[in-house]
Amino acid sequence: MTTTRFIFITGGVVSSLGKGLGSAALGALLQARGYTVRTCKLDPYLNVDPGTMSPFQHGEVYVTDDGAETDLDLGHYERFTGVPARGSDNVTTGQIYTSVLQKERKGEYLGATVQVIPHITDEIKAFIAEKDGSADFVLCEIGGTVGDIESLPFLEAIRQFGNDVGTERALFIHVTLLPYIPAAGELKTKPTQHSVKELMSHGIQPRILLCRADREIDEDERRKIALFCNIDRDRVIPALDVKSIYEVPLTYHAEGLDDQVLKCFGLSEPAPPDLRKWDDIVKRVHEPEGEVRIAIAGKYTNLADSYKSLNEALVHGGIANNVRVKLKFFESEVFESGDVAHYLSGVHGILVPGGFGSRGTEGKILAAKFARERGIPYFGICFGMQMAVIEAARHLAGIEKAGSTEFGACAEPVVGLMTEWLRGGRREERAQDGDLGGTMRLGAYPAVLAEGSKIAEIYGTTEISERHRHRYEVNFAYRDALESKGIRFSGTSPDGALPEIMENVNHPWFIGVQYHPELKSKPFDPHPLFVSFIAAALEQSRLV
Ligand code: GLN
Repeated sequence: MTTTRFIFITGGVVSSLGKGLGSAALGALLQARGYTVRTCKLDPYLNVDPGTMSPFQHGEVYVTDDGAETDLDLGHYERFTGVPARGSDNVTTGQIYTSVLQKERKGEYLGATVQVIPHITDEIKAFIAEKDGSADFVLCEIGGTVGDIESLPFLEAIRQFGNDVGTERALFIHVTLLPYIPAAGELKTKPTQHSVKELMSHGIQPRILLCRADREIDEDERRKIALFCNIDRDRVIPALDVKSIYEVPLTYHAEGLDDQVLKCFGLSEPAPPDLRKWDDIVKRVHEPEGEVRIAIAGKYTNLADSYKSLNEALVHGGIANNVRVKLKFFESEVFESGDVAHYLSGVHGILVPGGFGSRGTEGKILAAKFARERGIPYFGICFGMQMAVIEAARHLAGIEKAGSTEFGACAEPVVGLMTEWLRGGRREERAQDGDLGGTMRLGAYPAVLAEGSKIAEIYGTTEISERHRHRYEVNFAYRDALESKGIRFSGTSPDGALPEIMENVNHPWFIGVQYHPELKSKPFDPHPLFVSFIAAALEQSRLV
């Protein structure tokens, strides 16, 4: 069996330091050395999963093939390492407590007083230990910031785990911030010192520090951190801001991160890693040969993380076409004043992403109409497909009252609640008034594409599997009415019951998909739909 080594990544000083990206980039570097990796995230919040959390607060919900709604950091891991994320790569305090309390009810603790230590910590350790043997390196990122009350059981669990397996098999990396104080004209090391002290008070001595800073960290500062934090100078690694996230593996390597990680484990590596694929991606990001402007008509537009995978998939489409993709975000409500052209003329593509609830939907429908009428490439994802179908029903098929039951009772439910569907031959059922959490059609489902359709040409195959996250579905009772007006349902579930893809056959590029292709796109393996959409936008940019 593989000897698995465990790397624990904690964060200090402030949140949003990019621990997730750092973990993903380290995973990519270890892969470039020929090792296998698995990356997981331990989230201290109480929600059982992020499925019911607002994208405004927590960013996007990332969905895995096996149908788990997880933290968006799993998206970074998958984008950087190419290893498909699994539900078992993410755990929250909510899940840990649920499991412990279920065991308590079953009497599995044999009368013991159930406590944070050892019962909660054992449950966390079991989550980590379960990954033993699955890869050469298991990277475990601990969410939150050292010092948070919620993090304590996690820190205690990884401390114990580190002790159990020994320093040959466990390494602690701490990510901190060196803030620049203009009045002093220098980067400050004190918050880092305090954060490491806090970590050490929990019995964890980090052996590598990743120091985020917005400028060069000079030698004096580096030595000072090394001295006060009890860390080798070469293991105080500068992690400076970069223009593109895809530079992170290269910059960490240049600062010696992967070398030091291997040294900590006593692994000597004479050969440097093969980073050509990252060099190529970064070159394409920095030296594009053109630019396309894409409008995103959404709802959660003031938090960049709410459309994380989508933004990245569009960047990947740009990489594949050698162009920069400029994104213009619109709260779709703004279109409802009627002057869509004011906002959208001059864009080369319009994308309506996934979404929930009625606010802004009329604006999305107007954006789809604008794209359809003006021949502008339109890409509807999940909700964006549903809105495009409602638009076509109203304005092409003359079904004026077309709507979705998501927004209440509706005379013409062109989009309706899905209460049953097949998963691998088994019927899944939902009650009309069921829980909101974990009750969607979630995860990977196969779809069959019509021969000769645009979508089949884009994928280069007629059998695909994509990830879903939705409760509502285009109602096939309206199929004929729509298909007679140029809307083609060119992809369905294998039994033909559920519409997966719609195309407007009278338009240069007008596609809606019921799934989330953005979740599977990678910089080195861009999703074909995004490659094709950006190519169509490029074509459009040459026309206007
Ligand atoms: N709200 C829609 C549904 O539940 C779309 C969901 C989404 O876009 N992810 O079907």
